[in-house]
Amino acid sequence: MLHNLVKSDKIIKPSWITNLGTLNSLPEPFEEVTESDFIHNRTRTCIQSIEFRSILFPNGFYSTYIEWHPSCAFAQVFPKEWCLKDSKVFYTMPIRYFRIGCKHSYRPMTKEELNKNSIVLFHSTHAAICDQCGDIQITDSSD
Ligand SMILES: [Zn+2]
Repeated sequence: MLHNLVKSDKIIKPSWITNLGTLNSLPEPFEEVTESDFIHNRTRTCIQSIEFRSILFPNGFYSTYIEWHPSCAFAQVFPKEWCLKDSKVFYTMPIRYFRIGCKHSYRPMTKEELNKNSIVLFHSTHAAICDQCGDIQITDSSD
């Protein structure tokens, strides 16, 4: 497993983020999701990079890892409350999960949109665009 740990100032704002936030805040938009949502959705694409932030919530700063995927991101916010048992860390409060970015609504691209974006499709490739943020997904149905 190879992941890059990058600093916030090295991340270029993708179209599906309205605000990159700061080292002490989450990128926007974001919404809290369940652990199950996090596990099921994060495995659909590959992680491009992992960023560490210390996020300020009303009751203090929390260590947070943000996984950047091609069209979305996920944040894991670790609780301050933990203990050691058999030399292993056990959190005594739940880890919180946040989905970051546009809730995409993709539709197939028109010929005009393909030309405008200089996209050439081959027989088994398909292009879709999100009407809300303009993110483009190109998939290959031959896989
Ligand atoms: Zn979108």
